Amino acid sequence: MFDSVVVDNLGRHLRDLRISVTDRCNFRCRYCMPRERFGEEHTFLPRRAYLSFDEIEKVVLACKPLGLEKVRITGGEPLLRPDLPDLVSKLSAAGVETALTTNASLLSDPAERLAEAGLDRVTVSLDALDPKTHAQMTDSNIPVEAVLDGIEAAVRAGLSPVKVNCVVQRGVNEGEISPLVRKFRGTGVTVRFIEYMDVGRTNGWQLGQVVPTADVIAYLKEEFELEPVDSQRPSDVARRWAHSDGSGEVGFISSVSEPFCGDCVRARLSADGRLHTCLFASGGHDLRAIIQNGADGEALSDAIAAIWSRRDDRYSELRSERTAVLPRVEMSYIGG
Ligand code: SAM
Ligand code: SF4
Ligand code: SF4
Repeated sequence: MFDSVVVDNLGRHLRDLRISVTDRCNFRCRYCMPRERFGEEHTFLPRRAYLSFDEIEKVVLACKPLGLEKVRITGGEPLLRPDLPDLVSKLSAAGVETALTTNASLLSDPAERLAEAGLDRVTVSLDALDPKTHAQMTDSNIPVEAVLDGIEAAVRAGLSPVKVNCVVQRGVNEGEISPLVRKFRGTGVTVRFIEYMDVGRTNGWQLGQVVPTADVIAYLKEEFELEPVDSQRPSDVARRWAHSDGSGEVGFISSVSEPFCGDCVRARLSADGRLHTCLFASGGHDLRAIIQNGADGEALSDAIAAIWSRRDDRYSELRSERTAVLPRVEMSYIGG
């Protein structure tokens, strides 16, 4: 049996688990779930296939002795699960740092309950403040105000520091970069700009649509005085810059122009219980079958350790070496 932390084939620990609780969403962001591919006829996971919250807790408890420190609840849109505070309570009681990634359109109401249940932090995805651009990007008629209300509720509930993630796409929302920084400067909310990635097979990704971090920084420096800040840990995926007057920070996640596979300590659990060792993995490992076959905590731990110890994923690095053309699963399924 594995009785201590595991490392993979490239010496990386398992510290972080992203847990998808649904593959459904109330938005249809064009870069994630384009409506033509995720419309009426799309087959989502049947709800009976979802791991129960008790089963998710078992996975987390099994990962803890292997080195797990943080979990992030995601999806799809996790707040489509109205009982989410129950899961948060279990995870928080399991002694792991617990965060949530959400589009925040349904966050106003449960923010307080989530905080009381032990949620530590929230990351909100928001790609545009301009109502028209927001509606185009999310392909929904849920107004951007609903998202802003959700962010405010999270701040009020003390789910800090709240982060706002913005995926930048060339020709789509570059004009939103400065307004987002202006809006959240001095509020304690950190905006982070993410390079558009080639996840899944439905968004028609092209390299030319990626706006490299270096361009975003150069652009922001025309308006703001920004200084680089040292990363706290090698596994921090965001590069941090601070406003020189102390009014806050801006972050950059450069998964395309500067891949960080070498420090990737992250696994993903799909809503139906498959463990993926890379965002770009083509297949997962069926933990639900292991749990439902009656494995106890130790056996589940051993199974996860065995999977992790065989891991050699480094897709983003291979992409930049232009050697990888691999099948991939959708982000809404695997959990972004
Ligand atoms: N629905 C929630 C949300 O939007 O925050 C959680 C799930 S979503 C898949 C998680 C994150 O993945 C979001 O911040 C979204 O912007 C990001 N994402 C989805 N597709 C992406 C892509 N092709 N490139 C970069 N980020 C992407
Ligand atoms: Fe939904 Fe999030 Fe994907 Fe947008 S990015 S479609 S909000 S899962
Ligand atoms: Fe981690 Fe895979 Fe992303 Fe590389 S491509 S950083 S291994 S999830």
